[in-house]
Amino acid sequence: MQQSRSSQLFEQAQRVIPGGVNSPVRSFRAVEGTPPFIARGQGARVWDVDGNEYIDYLGSWGPLALGHAHPAVVEAVQRAAADGTSFGAPVEQEVELAELICQALPSVDMVRLVNSGTEACMSALRLARAYTGRSKIVKFAGNYHGHADGLLVQAGSGALTHGVPTSAGVPEAYAAETLLAAYNDTQSVESLFDAWPNDIAAVIVEPVAGNMGVVPPAEGFLAGLRRITEANGALLIFDEVITGFRVAYGGAQTRFGITPDITTLGKIIGGGLPVGAYGGRGEVMRMVAPLGPMYQAGTLSGNPLAVAAGVATLLELQRPGVYEQLEATAVRLTDGVAGAFAGAEIPATINRVASMFTGFFNAGPVGALAQVEQSDTAAYGRYFHALLERGVYIAPSQFEAGFVSIAHTDADVDRTIAAVGDALDAMA
Ligand SMILES: *Cc1c(COP(=O)(O)O)cnc(C)c1O
Repeated sequence: MQQSRSSQLFEQAQRVIPGGVNSPVRSFRAVEGTPPFIARGQGARVWDVDGNEYIDYLGSWGPLALGHAHPAVVEAVQRAAADGTSFGAPVEQEVELAELICQALPSVDMVRLVNSGTEACMSALRLARAYTGRSKIVKFAGNYHGHADGLLVQAGSGALTHGVPTSAGVPEAYAAETLLAAYNDTQSVESLFDAWPNDIAAVIVEPVAGNMGVVPPAEGFLAGLRRITEANGALLIFDEVITGFRVAYGGAQTRFGITPDITTLGKIIGGGLPVGAYGGRGEVMRMVAPLGPMYQAGTLSGNPLAVAAGVATLLELQRPGVYEQLEATAVRLTDGVAGAFAGAEIPATINRVASMFTGFFNAGPVGALAQVEQSDTAAYGRYFHALLERGVYIAPSQFEAGFVSIAHTDADVDRTIAAVGDALDAMA
C-alpha cells in the first residue's frame, strides 16, 4: 500500500496540530501506523491522497447513511451556498429541518439546533438541571456524549481507546456532579437514586451503546430507566446522536418504544455537515431562552448550508424500503463476517443493531463494558491493518461502531467478507 503522500502530510500536520489530527481517534494511536489522508469519497468508497481505494465502513463515524457525496445532498449544499453561507438570522430551511425532526421523533415537540453532538448533550444537561432544579446527572461508564466537562467522566470512544478515564482539565467539582452507573444494569441506577434521592436531574444514556463498540440494550434496560427516572422526578435523556435516523427513522425511541424526556441528535441530521440538536416536550423546551431562563445560543446554529444537507438527507431516508435495505445489507455483512470469525483461530464475535455493528476480538457474548474491555486490542490492530491493505476501511479502534449506508451494494459486502477471511488467514 502506497502511503508516501499521507506520511508527508501527517508529518506536516503534527507540527501544527496536536497529534496531527483534529479529533484524537483519527490519529491511529490505537492501531499504530499512519492514517491515510482522504482525498474524496463517492457512495460506499473513499480514495486517499496516494490513490488507494477503500470500501468505507466508518461513514464519517455515523452521519453518512446515504454514503459519500449523495447527489441530493451535494445539490442542496451547492444551491444553499450560492445564496450565501450565513446570516445570523432565521432562514426557511431550519424550520423545515426542525419540523422533520419533530415529526420523526414521538417525544420531541420542539427542538433547538446547534452545531455538534457535544453542544447538544451539554445543552440537554443544562436544560434538565434548569427544569428540575437539581444538579447531579447519571451517566454510564463507556457511553460517550461529547467532550463537555461533566460528560468526560469514564467516557467511551476516544477516551476509552486512549485510556483516559476522566480528562485532565475537568474540575473535580464538575466530575463530582456526574454519577456513574453500569450499562445494562438498572440496579446500579437504583442504587444511585437511593444514595441521592433528591439530587439527580437526569439520566443520560446511549439507547444503543456505540462508543464502546456496539452493545445492544439488554431486555428491559431502557424501560427500567424510564420507570426509575419517572419514580424519582428525574428526566431521561436519550443521546440519539448516533441512533437517531440510524436504527430507525424515528430513532431508538421508536425502535424500542420508550419515550424519553429529552433527546439529543447529531451526525445523520447534518448529512455530513456540522449539526446537532436537542429537543423534548413543549413544557421542558419552553425553559430555553428566549422563552425561558436557560441560556443557550450559537452564531452558526441553523446554518443554511448545514440544515440544507440535513433536510436533503432526511428526505432521502423517508423513501420506502430504505431502513429495510440498510438492515438487510448489515445482516448480509455481519452474517458473513461472523462465518469468517467462526473459522478463525482468534476468538471473535460480532454485535449488530440495525445498520451499526462492531466485531470484537473476544469470545463473547459482549453485553457490558466489563466484557468489552476483555477484547484483544492488539489483535484488532492487526486485523485493522490487514483489512486496510485489502481495501476495507473500518474504525481505527476496537471501541467504535461500524456503519453501512444505502450506497453499500451486495457486491461491496461480498468483497468485504472475502477480505475479512483473507485478513484473518494472514493474521494466523
Ligand atoms: C459522536 C457522538 C457525540 C458527540 O458528537 P460530536 O458531533 O462529535 O460533538 C455525542 N454522543 C454520541 C452518542 C456520539 O456518538
